[in-house]
Amino acid sequence: MNVKPSTTAVQLKHVNLAYPEVIGIRNQVPLLDSRYVPQIFLDNAASTKPFQCVSNFLQEIQPYYSNIHRGKGFDSSFCTQRYQEARHVVGEFVGWDCERDVVIPVRSTTEGINLLANIIHFAPGQTVLTTLLEHHSNDLPWRRQAKVEHLPVNEKGQLSLDELERHLKASNGRVRVVSVTGASNVTGTILPIHEIAVIAHKYGALVVVDGAQLVPHRQVQMRPHDDPSHIDFLVFSGHKMNCPLGVGAVVGHRNIFDAATPYQPGGGTVSSVHLDQVIWADTPNRNEAGTPNILGLFALARTIQVLESVGMEAVETHERYLTAQLLQGLAQLPQVKILGESNPETIQNRLGVVSFTVEGVHHALAAAILSYEWGIAVRNGCFCAQPLLRHLLKVTKKQDLLCQEEILQGNQHNVPGAVRASLGLHNTAADIQTLVEAVTCIARQQWQGNYKQDVITGEFSPQGFCFNFNDLPGFKTEPSNSFYR
Ligand code: PLP
Repeated sequence: MNVKPSTTAVQLKHVNLAYPEVIGIRNQVPLLDSRYVPQIFLDNAASTKPFQCVSNFLQEIQPYYSNIHRGKGFDSSFCTQRYQEARHVVGEFVGWDCERDVVIPVRSTTEGINLLANIIHFAPGQTVLTTLLEHHSNDLPWRRQAKVEHLPVNEKGQLSLDELERHLKASNGRVRVVSVTGASNVTGTILPIHEIAVIAHKYGALVVVDGAQLVPHRQVQMRPHDDPSHIDFLVFSGHKMNCPLGVGAVVGHRNIFDAATPYQPGGGTVSSVHLDQVIWADTPNRNEAGTPNILGLFALARTIQVLESVGMEAVETHERYLTAQLLQGLAQLPQVKILGESNPETIQNRLGVVSFTVEGVHHALAAAILSYEWGIAVRNGCFCAQPLLRHLLKVTKKQDLLCQEEILQGNQHNVPGAVRASLGLHNTAADIQTLVEAVTCIARQQWQGNYKQDVITGEFSPQGFCFNFNDLPGFKTEPSNSFYR
């Protein structure tokens, strides 16, 4: 049973956050009843919308775009210099050691963890220790390289540090890597990454932090290499922190990158190539095969500068206030069960990621109603964390087997899941109030549409209504125009 938090309101002061324009945050969206309303965007844990000023910066810099490194033209020299500067901005943001660490731009956190799983050397029998809280992207990449063990979490999704220590002690030095999420993308739980690092280092393991959720919402510092609480590798994604392009970064030990053959060999990764011999380039070049995402790294660095000027502490204060408001609002609804810790008094240990179920309402139906009848964008399903969802939802072995059988037959209609609302810096108290109002109606089984579920995808849509994208930008040629405007 869900333990309801005390209904005494947590006294938090709301400070209006001053932040630069976020593109498209109040787009008008159509509703089932033919009205158009400004969208309430609460799907930020998946991707955030970009800062207008970063998009402007890209427009300014684009005329000088040219490939970096060996180009001798003005533009190439300019981009090469800016690329190195951008690398520093990213490293400084997370407190790197610019001598001993390196910043490797990647497409996303997923690519970053795959990169690490491939460059960290595992001797036979060495393992990776992770947790049941992880996104699949901090689990599956490791499974290809080593045996992966998962620390359990309790019914609130919390990890025991004693359990971590017990496991490491019993493993007799077999654990090569402890890889944990900085914060759960399902429950919002923030993990004590530095305490985890102290314990992991005591047993000789490297510490990798999946910062996909944490870095956009909290000030994360890797700390000095000689500090036992140091983070060895940090990985994060720009698209979750209001950066317009698909880019992310891995920050960590230069010498470990130097000791490994490139994950992706190719142009740029070499100093010398003969038909029968290759000398790899030094890091970071050996890990940036082909043409890197130059504009992407510029965008990430500029986004970081913008976030720094807003202030990560201010972001945290603002999001905490709204998170408490959301938890308090949902706590009034007996039909709603929040996954993980639901007590607003513990918000210092969590992000504004709130996943919940509504009794008697399929998660996909609830998400559809929020979208079609309220203009609220959330996400539903398992959020790429299926083992965690099964644990939190207490899915029985029998239910799981049945579901697996249906999936094998191509039917997703019974897949367990939840609805997730995730906050960004643009969200307001009014957004949260509307969400709580909407969930209240859903909990009382009050909605307008007649929804039908697609057995194959599991998604619900209202009968007689679908979104029309014809007037939005697309790829149809305009017959009268040979050039696009
Ligand atoms: N790790 C966590 C905790 C996430 O929430 C996500 C994405 O939602 C990822 C990893 C994967 O990030 P990306 O999609 O940028 O590869």
